[in-house]
Amino acid sequence: MASQIVVVGGSLGGLRAAEQLRVNGWSGALTVVGAEAHLPYNRPPLSKNVLVSPDISALTAAELVDYPGVALRRRAQVEDVSFVLDTQVASAALSDRSLLTVDGRELAYDGLVIATGLRPRRLPIAGFDRHRHALRTLDDAIALRGQLTPGTAVVVVGGGFIGCEVAASACRLGCQVTVVEPFAAPMLRPLGAELARTVQTFHEDKGVSFRLGRSVSTLAGRASDPATLGAVVLDDGTELEADVLVEAVGSNPNVEWLAGNGLDLSDGVLCDNMMRVEARENVVAVGDVARFPNPRFGSTPRRVEHWCIPADTAHRAATTLIRGLSTAENGDRDPAPFAPLPSFWSDQFDVRIQGFGRTEHADRIEVLEGGFAPGWVSEGVVVGYFRQSTMTGVVIAGGTPAQRLRHKTLLEGVG
Ligand SMILES: Cc1cc2nc3c(=O)[nH]c(=O)nc-3n(C[C@H](O)[C@H](O)[C@H](O)COP(=O)(O)OP(=O)(O)OC[C@H]3O[C@@H](n4cnc5c(N)ncnc54)[C@H](O)[C@@H]3O)c2cc1C
Repeated sequence: MASQIVVVGGSLGGLRAAEQLRVNGWSGALTVVGAEAHLPYNRPPLSKNVLVSPDISALTAAELVDYPGVALRRRAQVEDVSFVLDTQVASAALSDRSLLTVDGRELAYDGLVIATGLRPRRLPIAGFDRHRHALRTLDDAIALRGQLTPGTAVVVVGGGFIGCEVAASACRLGCQVTVVEPFAAPMLRPLGAELARTVQTFHEDKGVSFRLGRSVSTLAGRASDPATLGAVVLDDGTELEADVLVEAVGSNPNVEWLAGNGLDLSDGVLCDNMMRVEARENVVAVGDVARFPNPRFGSTPRRVEHWCIPADTAHRAATTLIRGLSTAENGDRDPAPFAPLPSFWSDQFDVRIQGFGRTEHADRIEVLEGGFAPGWVSEGVVVGYFRQSTMTGVVIAGGTPAQRLRHKTLLEGVG
């Protein structure tokens, strides 16, 4: 049996891959290389609790990494895993089975797990760096938190889940918040028009403003101090007062370190249904960076940026890699199709929006339970997403945990 597996990426996907390799019997050396200085932690609280909870507002990054909810529980099986942190892999030579880090270290491997996730896209506008934020890491959240004081004018560019969560958090902290979004409603693609507008109205009732159908043209300094951000200028010429700008305009996969190996890196790392990277027996990918076919939704490989996917893909990838390393045979030795049900949640103010399956490509959307009348948050509204009369997704906004579980179970039965 080969002796060393290296996992590149020290976050949720990397940790879950290491755990699954051990759970599935890998007893050889196991190293996780992570670009961040911290051990793996949970990202969902970064746009929610970490920004708003007064009881943790004084905690440093090192303290937050161990804080309940932010901390990712590390199973006993990974106690002997070597975590090499604060070090980025600069390049990979897959044919030589070797990696090179930015600080000049060479790492040889027998098996490789790619778990390098995403980084935020940024607006292609220069300047005002001290007042501009994106949110992916704990350090990003701490930097943003320090600027969200009552009365601060905050412009959030991008009305997706992360943008809307940040807007809700900033509003709860007493900031004046405006969301700029190019589509006709926030979260339009994942929720559909009617639910998206309902959630928008919910935000507006709490004090968040929206500029829809608009994008950012440029940034402007203050009249009194041109070096300090004062306004965000939109494509229709409107100037929005801004002390702080949050860019929540999507993400790019971290794949540059894999260049030169002949891989398809056009949107993350292309994998097969075994999470194997382009027929290589000793390379797998997991989490946000992995683009793989899910037979539940057809044969097109896709990336999925939800919290549940790193664990699901790590389970599959670990068994694939161990099999690939322990026998000279090639081919699919696990005939069971890998068809995880994607699920996401988003907490905005006091409402939880939870979705299962795929909602973006629906040709019909139907309210299955409840409605959009006042009271929908406590009673819960359930929306079904259909493609060619098959239900492919469901979203439950508000409501109870039991209601969410019931609809998840129903959708699982469809797949
Ligand atoms: C603010 C925020 C809120 C979220 N909220 C929710 C939510 O409410 N619900 C939900 O379902 N999902 C949510 N998500 C998504 C969820 O957190 C991600 O799906 C999950 O973190 C993906 O894990 P990953 O390990 O695949 O990638 P990542 O978490 O991106 O981790 C990749 C790691 O690899 C490291 N890395 C990159 N390149 C290199 C390199 N060359 N060498 C070494 N290391 C490298 C990175 O520094 C990073 O630590 C949220 C995400 C964010 C950012």
